[in-house]
Amino acid sequence: MKGIAASPGIAIGRAFISKKTEPEIAKRAIAESELKYELARFYTAVQKAEEELQVIRDNTREKMGEKAAEIFQAHLMFLKDPELIPAIENKIKEEQINAEFATQSVVEEYAKLFAVMEDEYLQTREADIRDVGKRLISILAGKTDEVNRPEKKAIILAPDLSPSDTAQLDRAKVLAFITAKGSTTSHTAIMARSLAIPAVVGVGLDFGKKIKNNDLLIVDGNNGMIFINPEDELICEYKQKLAELAVERKRLATYRKKKARTGDGIPVKVLGNIGNHQEVEAVINHGAEGIGLFRTEFLYMNRDTLPDEEEQYQVYKEVSSKMKDKPVMIRTLDIGGDKELPYLKFPPEMNPFLGYRGIRLWLDHKEIAKSQLRAILRASYDGNIKIIYPMITALNEVKRAHSLLKECKEELTKSGRKYKEETEIGIMIETPAAVMISAILARELDFFSIGTNDLIQYTVAVDRTNEKVAGLHTPYHPAVLKLIKKTVESAHQAGIWVGICGEAAGDKLLLPFLLGAGLDEFSMGAAAIPGIKEVLSQWTRAEASELTMQVLNAAGVTAVKEILKKRMK
Ligand code: PEP
Ligand code: MG
Repeated sequence: MKGIAASPGIAIGRAFISKKTEPEIAKRAIAESELKYELARFYTAVQKAEEELQVIRDNTREKMGEKAAEIFQAHLMFLKDPELIPAIENKIKEEQINAEFATQSVVEEYAKLFAVMEDEYLQTREADIRDVGKRLISILAGKTDEVNRPEKKAIILAPDLSPSDTAQLDRAKVLAFITAKGSTTSHTAIMARSLAIPAVVGVGLDFGKKIKNNDLLIVDGNNGMIFINPEDELICEYKQKLAELAVERKRLATYRKKKARTGDGIPVKVLGNIGNHQEVEAVINHGAEGIGLFRTEFLYMNRDTLPDEEEQYQVYKEVSSKMKDKPVMIRTLDIGGDKELPYLKFPPEMNPFLGYRGIRLWLDHKEIAKSQLRAILRASYDGNIKIIYPMITALNEVKRAHSLLKECKEELTKSGRKYKEETEIGIMIETPAAVMISAILARELDFFSIGTNDLIQYTVAVDRTNEKVAGLHTPYHPAVLKLIKKTVESAHQAGIWVGICGEAAGDKLLLPFLLGAGLDEFSMGAAAIPGIKEVLSQWTRAEASELTMQVLNAAGVTAVKEILKKRMK
């Protein structure tokens, strides 16, 4: 069975299908003379709910960290909402009905409003308000709606798990979560990630037809696969993977907190890539020294209209304030290629990756570009934000982007908005054209960031999304390695720094080459960070540059890999 991979890791264990008993709510008429008692009962319940939530919030903060605790802080805010609680009070008074029923109907109304909102974050508030409503009703009815809990360690399956349900479960007994509903941004997913419990969500409501209580399951949170009553051979394979993971995790844990340094003690910058603002937590937890690539496409996807400046500003500001004084490099919209926006209708292209994508499309749509730049500039005022332009192939693209940025600064000044004048500007080096003119481009910029995912595709002429040629999409091709080296040389000759943020940055086998090539910064998905810090600690710069020279003389992919494998520590 396949679902959405929501929290990485592997679990092997028995299925435990979690069911909830929810109190039934009947409508009762309340006599006029009894109304004040009914209202007092309601106020007491609100107070009790508040106390319960404060305790849960504090416990959650202690056990799972700030991010998970925020969910309960948001529940508390509902109880203080200037509309929700008075709306329930009014219903009790006006319709002269019992508090349980009034709570249920008002909460239902609000939940439905949230459910139809376009914004994904506001949609998730539906689950929050229902959770708060249930808590109030349970207190009023004097019953609990606890989830049934496993007695032994098990893999928990449920149609959906609210944050309160998840917090009730004993971490030690939960091997993994599987839910019928949910997405990678759903609360179960967020909690699972902060608890480091593997999770697969969105498997569909009919999971009960395929999985029964006590079935043996393998849950692979890395790719969203679930194996039901698997063969012994597969179990052995996964047990082996589990053992390897455990050993590796233990060894790497120490690197999370350590600053990245080479074997001879030279500090190296290791940063994290994020594809949406929810991934910041993971990047911090894995010991990143900043965000080296913030892909902003998510802000524009899964919706019907463009995000406005304010919405973008809020997201950029949130990420930057979470990272405190650490750098956050925001890449401007890189749509096109394999990423489409249904509401921006363009004619289909024969070769979308060679077509209207990234900076080309963005520069042509001045209003899209400018609202993003204004949002970034405004967020830069209180943070350490840098801007990256993607898909550059020519100097005039950089110049056009600079002039848009200048216009935006002037507009912000005129309207009295604050921004940081000296915000650093860099570009992605992800086309061979950009590498070949990198010395010219460097004069206009503060830094380069090498995007190997595209650089490989455009150098080796291999579509990065085509599984038939996937084997050819490799950073070990000597042409790619030479282009990386040339980029570093151009940058350093011009006195600017150069990082790498493609997938290759998290490749442990390639890392000594990259270090030896002189890269100043490495940015990668959170999970790769501790392992890369470990490899860095095993190499001195001198040793690595000697290896780089050797690798640059190799004739082909196989020869490159052989040299690197032989020297692996
Ligand atoms: C790259 O091309 O290497 C890169 C980091 O950008 P993306 O994967 O978003 O195209
Ligand atoms: Mg790219």
